[in-house]
Amino acid sequence: MNRYLKGIAISSLVLGLVAAGCSKQEPAKQAGGNPTVGVAIYKFDDTFMTGVRNAISKAGEGKAQVDIVDSQNAQPTQNDKVDLFITKKVNALAINPVDRTAAGVIIEKAKKANIPVVFFNREPLPEDMQKWDKVYYVGAKAEESGTISGKLIVDYWKAHPEMDKNKDGVLQYVLLKGEPGHQDAELRTKFSVKAVEDAGIKVQKLAEDTAMWDRVKGQEKMAAFLAAHGDNIEAVFANNDDMALGAIEALKAKGYFKDGKFIPVVGVDATAPALKALEEGTLLGTVLNDASNQGKATFNLSYVLAQGQTPNKDNTGYEVVDGKYVWVPYKKITKDNMNEAK
Ligand code: BGC
Ligand code: CA
Repeated sequence: MNRYLKGIAISSLVLGLVAAGCSKQEPAKQAGGNPTVGVAIYKFDDTFMTGVRNAISKAGEGKAQVDIVDSQNAQPTQNDKVDLFITKKVNALAINPVDRTAAGVIIEKAKKANIPVVFFNREPLPEDMQKWDKVYYVGAKAEESGTISGKLIVDYWKAHPEMDKNKDGVLQYVLLKGEPGHQDAELRTKFSVKAVEDAGIKVQKLAEDTAMWDRVKGQEKMAAFLAAHGDNIEAVFANNDDMALGAIEALKAKGYFKDGKFIPVVGVDATAPALKALEEGTLLGTVLNDASNQGKATFNLSYVLAQGQTPNKDNTGYEVVDGKYVWVPYKKITKDNMNEAK
């Protein structure tokens, strides 16, 4: 090797060592200095989460390298994806847990690697949230959505005495529940019925079952409710729009929504197909679960954290409650104000 070549060999060796040394302390940064955010969604095949996912990507455009993965509704798969993000030294994690009680394990891993975590849509237990100061949650107050959907039914009951088909003064209802254990499923179920009772209306539950947030399962469960209770059902509560739309399909098959045969069905989310159903007059009402602000807040918090800062209203645009939580409000949506959800 001549002197010239030796010089090059040594300087590239030195450069290599310097680079390796840097990457030990400094997390990986994309060319151009943009931070990287590792995002894991519980499953891609979920209507509402698709909206949140798109909002995260959009908010990250030009600011960060946003790497979004599908956990395929399996917590072990998600844990593997989180390990990969940690190996890649992402600057922040944004996690939509498959099982919200598994958040504690993810927090421990993230803490060890010193990578801040923003959970969203599936709320970790309070004791897990306290495990580290760089843990945040972006979501919506589940009880609020339950109360709003209950009030939609109350308003209809008051304005339409014919809704009490058997004239017994009691509201006979069926309920399609989301995934058991999910805060939105538990609290929407509880607070929707409570809102009706709080309005002084007596209720009788004819049937309740989980349809796991899923449209096809919603249709199947509603068909079973109809087989058992037929036209005795006076209202349908669904914890989300996909299940409400499934229920509407089953009701249509039994002659509802034509020739004056109607039954109030309420959902939550205000997804595009739900707004179409509102317009057609099959869905009575829904509750806006603001996917775009939840996605944007999730990204903004992750971005600020990725830069080593502490999120607050000034640097994220969202109020951070108790140093950890961003609550995006729900909103009542009917045919009259559906443009506000679009
Ligand atoms: C939404 C559901 C969705 C679930 C996923 C809820 O907030 O209302 O539509 O399936 O989150 O975790
Ligand atoms: Ca009745």
